[in-house]
Amino acid sequence: MRFFAYTLKKEGEECVIRYSCNHCNTEIGSIPFEAAKETLSQIETLDEGEKKSFLSVDHDGGLHVRCICEHCEQSLKTFPDYYTFKKWLQ
Ligand SMILES: [Zn+2]
Repeated sequence: MRFFAYTLKKEGEECVIRYSCNHCNTEIGSIPFEAAKETLSQIETLDEGEKKSFLSVDHDGGLHVRCICEHCEQSLKTFPDYYTFKKWLQ
């Protein structure tokens, strides 16, 4: 719950939630905190392990969400083996 509490504290300030792709690191976009209440309630349903792997707090205090971009999602559907292989290499 640490991340969630942290972002709540930032309410009222200029705080954004950034999304980037977990696979290719492409910045997918960012939304202002005010527009992210729905996202935050979804984040609340993640368990601690999931939060650790998908969320981080940026140096400027914004919340960073790692997800998958359209391009990688498409590739993943087309070549699931490639990503499994890449994971093993890391
Ligand atoms: Zn991607």
